[in-house]
Amino acid sequence: MRDVCKEGTAYVIDAAGFFASTPLNLVGRSLTVPEVIAEVKDLRSRLALQYLLSAGKLIVVEPPKDEVRYVASLSKNLGEFERLSKTDISLLALVSLLKKVCKRVVVVTDDHSVQNVALRIGAEVHGIKVPELRRYRRYVYVCPVCGYTSSKPGTCPKCGFKLIKKRAR
Ligand SMILES: [Zn+2]
Repeated sequence: MRDVCKEGTAYVIDAAGFFASTPLNLVGRSLTVPEVIAEVKDLRSRLALQYLLSAGKLIVVEPPKDEVRYVASLSKNLGEFERLSKTDISLLALVSLLKKVCKRVVVVTDDHSVQNVALRIGAEVHGIKVPELRRYRRYVYVCPVCGYTSSKPGTCPKCGFKLIKKRAR
């Protein structure tokens, strides 16, 4: 695992990183999860992906279950869990795993919820088309009528109003 951190840095790429329109200059080696590979559907992106895989520039790693569980609980704590797909959680579990062996982990994604959890894990984030978050933040979901607070989006169980996402202090 240690040899994936080229000069101490591991790059973790999500599906948007492989779209043909993305100018992807992979410095050294990058990593991703099987779910991301499955999400890349268009032909040109798949060809680019095939090239990266066969050239050994991209490594696919399935993260262990305990990392998946850890990242899921971390995401719940930040109020991001409901906004993340299974693929996102898997990718973040890989980030958490790499954080243990690499000095520096850079996550390449435009998804702010993925960026938020990645920052919480201690990774750096790099946006592709939109600017990235600088530091992680915790969100709560608050009822505008009675003030009921939840870590999940949805409706208020007391009065039925839609909960509003707010930054927690
Ligand atoms: Zn309410």
